[in-house]
Amino acid sequence: MINYGQHCVDEHDIEAVVNVLKNGLLTQGPMVTEFERTLCKYTGAPYAIAVNSGTSALHVACLALNIKKGDLVWTSPISFVASSNCARYCGADIDFIDIDPTSKNIDIESLTAKLKTAEKSGKLPKAIVVVHFAGLSCEMRKIHELMGGYGVQIIEDASHALGAIYNGKPVGNCEYSDACIFSFHPVKSITSAEGGAMLCRSEKLSEKARAFASHGIIRDKNSFKSLEGAPWEYEQHSLGFNYRLSDIHAALGIGQMKKLDNFIDRRRALASKYNKALVGLPLKLPSDKALEVSSWHLYVVELETHSQLEVYQKLCEKGIRPNVHYIPIHLQPYYRELGFRKGDFPKAEQYYSRALTLPLYPSLTGEQQDNVISVMHEVLE
Ligand SMILES: *Cc1c(COP(=O)(O)O)cnc(C)c1O
Repeated sequence: MINYGQHCVDEHDIEAVVNVLKNGLLTQGPMVTEFERTLCKYTGAPYAIAVNSGTSALHVACLALNIKKGDLVWTSPISFVASSNCARYCGADIDFIDIDPTSKNIDIESLTAKLKTAEKSGKLPKAIVVVHFAGLSCEMRKIHELMGGYGVQIIEDASHALGAIYNGKPVGNCEYSDACIFSFHPVKSITSAEGGAMLCRSEKLSEKARAFASHGIIRDKNSFKSLEGAPWEYEQHSLGFNYRLSDIHAALGIGQMKKLDNFIDRRRALASKYNKALVGLPLKLPSDKALEVSSWHLYVVELETHSQLEVYQKLCEKGIRPNVHYIPIHLQPYYRELGFRKGDFPKAEQYYSRALTLPLYPSLTGEQQDNVISVMHEVLE
């Protein structure tokens, strides 16, 4: 079976992990710090906190930005449920902004209109979680400008976008956001098996996030509130969690970061080939404009005439397992129970009814891709 996504681990990665097991500290050792430094260096963000998943990174970001019960958070309906669950963990209410049918990112016009209405009714959000869908960055400068006027904090869910470029710079530098998170799940740009990170520019925010990721405990004696600072002492200042990444996972992440640019180059070449080879079929293809800047986490086509289920099944019969990204979050039973309904975000729903994610990952061979292309022609012509 050719899957839609697949990790890519080599002998160096395996050796790095084995080295930690043989010689290193298994957790809270030097690998996590080195991984964080690597992420800062690559993105240009001054602070990075590595955690045990992208979801944990989103939760820690919300906690550090002081999102609480009674607050409102906005996000995109076309994302993985974690983009919106993170606000719910903090007791906040959630609402969604419909997507731009071209980029599949939050639509700026809908956002502008919704902000105006929200201001009038006194229901402005405390934060927005923007999602760089498939690896193509949102219009961060515009979003930053817009949100700045209303005092809304910005979290980038860049789970898809490690290695992507926005405005000539790497996604993750937090130039236009308060915090940016990455996921290192095996299908993402790089993997640490499970893992994630929160990046930011504020030292204070980074300290808060780091504490929330480790029980709310502070070890810097200068920041103690009551204890004297004996060598064994630590203080708990908030109710945190244990979201720490292990050194075993971090060692894998460090090795993977060395290959990130090659991974993205390969993804880009495959996407470019798909765009050329599928032209003429009854499909809406990703925009060529994304070719240079997206990290190409996903290659999504939209079916113009054929049934999604039928095409999905025919591909499976030929040994190709596509996927669909994503079931709109507001249509999940958990969110329907909160009051969301079919029809609330029509562009997201229409996109979902036609979307199909084709295989795209660095180790996909030319031969395998040619096979996917010829099966697509067979099924759609
Ligand atoms: C993968 C993903 C996450 C969650 O990451 P995990 O590391 O699996 O917890 C969050 N948001 C988006 C958009 C994702 O694709």
